[in-house]
Parts: sequence; structure tokens; C-alpha cells
Amino acid sequence: MTPFTYTCPKTLTEAVRSHDANIDARFIGGGTNLLDLMKMGTERPTRLVDINRLPLKEIQEHNGGVRIGALVSNTEAASHPLIRSRYPVLSEAILAGATQQLRNKATMGGNLLQRTRCYYFYDPSFQECNKRVPGSGCAAIQGCNRIHAILGTSDKCIAVHPSDMAVALMALDAVVQVTGPKGERTIAIRDFHRLPGDTPQTDTNLQPGELITAIDLPPIAYGRRSKYIKVRDRNSYAFALVSVATVLDADENGTIRKAHIALGGVAHKPWRATKAEAMIARTKADESTLRAAADAELQAAKGYRDNGFKIELAKRCIVRGVLNALNAA
Ligand code: SF4
Repeated sequence: MTPFTYTCPKTLTEAVRSHDANIDARFIGGGTNLLDLMKMGTERPTRLVDINRLPLKEIQEHNGGVRIGALVSNTEAASHPLIRSRYPVLSEAILAGATQQLRNKATMGGNLLQRTRCYYFYDPSFQECNKRVPGSGCAAIQGCNRIHAILGTSDKCIAVHPSDMAVALMALDAVVQVTGPKGERTIAIRDFHRLPGDTPQTDTNLQPGELITAIDLPPIAYGRRSKYIKVRDRNSYAFALVSVATVLDADENGTIRKAHIALGGVAHKPWRATKAEAMIARTKADESTLRAAADAELQAAKGYRDNGFKIELAKRCIVRGVLNALNAA
């Protein structure tokens, strides 16, 4: 392991200054992903800034919605009454991820920043990985790609974002609060993660040295009419092959006024299914309407050697997600 310095600041100002926008520095919260990456030699920071003493552990009402501090554990967020009662899709998504032990340790900010589980990224003995070594190629495109992306890929990278939580946040139109060397700013969750393009080494639109301080959930009166579905190879401790978070504004007759649909396991970022949403708005969605919307959403999808099955699976998840959300609450 590469030697590193360690600091444990007590204030945000100190934390940002300790990081100093150094490309070899990392903030560490729960460490459930970063420490694995360091042990594998995939990440080699020379400076760790431990943020666990920062005052970022509150869940509170905020502007009619809820603000979740970046250091709130995944377990605490999933079980909190405000989240369970107003945003159950977020609870479901968090509880579908990882194990209880990991959820106890993992933080909300860290969950957003976890890195892809592409096999070639994790194992430095593979020479080709543009995300780990820019310009080296992408072993997954011609290799084992069962877990990889079908939407928004590039010829540089076909990795997927692994978080369940982020898929629910995408459906809920969450906003990420950050602070950094240039001050505070907000980033809509839609703009937080990136598609790979020519620079797959960059997962998010955070600027150097920026730290997530909170995640804001906007007020959504119909947030209880929601559902998270995760399809995976085994029932526990497995990443999604495909997942879908659905939140619906619908009347008592089942006519959908507005739909929020986000897919996981299909792209380098949680994928907002805007085409499907537009097609089912103001309809009394039956299976054939939903299937047509899902077909439209996946029209641009591209399968690789092992993952073509995800295209049909994603369509079925959209249909099932909306039907299940209609029956929720
Ligand atoms: Fe690396 Fe992305 Fe290719 Fe995986 S898919 S080998 S992370 S470049």
C-alpha cells in the first residue's frame, strides 16, 4: 500500500483546507469502498482526510422536504421515520444494497461516490482500463461484460454505477449540497454523476477538493406512491443487474399525472427514463401502454457480448415498477 498522511479535522473549513484540492488526497467517511480500493492498489492516495468528526450527521426537515447530512449512515437513513413515511422508495433502495454491516458503516455521501464494480477496474493486473489508467483501453468491451452498461456507453468505457440509493435519489429529484475551495454550491442529482464519454476516469461533476455536505429531498406530496425493484443474481449482497425506482403522481382511478422513473445497473450514472415518463403521463397506464413506453426508453440501448439480456430485463422492470408503484401506499 502507498504510504499516506492522515488528518482528522473538526470543521468544514479545516477539512477543505486539509484536502487542498490535491489530486492524490481523498476524503474518507465510512471507507467501505475506498479501503477496498486501496488494498487492491486501485486507489493510491497519499493523503487521507477523515471527515467523521464533521457535524454532518443530522436528518431534519428542510424547506418542506428533508435534508440528510452526508455522514448519516445508510442504516440510519433507511430507518428514519421521515424517510420511511415520506420517501419509502429511498428506504427500499438502501435496504436492497450491501449487507447490514456495510450499511451501518457506509455514509450517504460515500454511497454516492462509490466506484464501479467492473472486474477490470478493480484488479490492477489487468492492463486495460481507461477508468483506472486513462488511455490504456477498455478490457470489458471485448471481455466479460455481463454486468456492464447498455445505455450511454462510449468506446472508452461501458461501466455502470453500482449504487441502489442513487437510483432512488434520481427518481426523487434530490439535490446534492457541496462545499469546496470556491465555497458552497448545489448540484441536481441529474447532473451529479457523468456518462463516460472520453474521460471515464471522472465519475462525477465534483470539482477538485469539493466535499458533499448533505443531500436534500424536495417535498413530494405523492412520495409514498413509489417502489424500488432490484433484479440481481442472488438475493443478498449483490449489485443490480437492473433496478428501477418509480414514484407516481396518480389519481384514485389509476390515471398517472406524473411519473418519475430511474433505472440502475444500465449506465455509468443512474438513468432517468424521461422518454417513458413522458409517454405515460396523463394516461391510465395498462401493460401495453407501459410496454410501449419501455420500448421507447430502451430504443437506443446497445448490448455487448454477455449483457444483451439487460435490454429486455430493463423494459420488464419499467412495466413492473410502474404497476407496483400504482398499487403502493
Ligand atoms: Fe475500465 Fe470502464 Fe472498461 Fe471497466 S468498462 S474496463 S471500468 S474502462
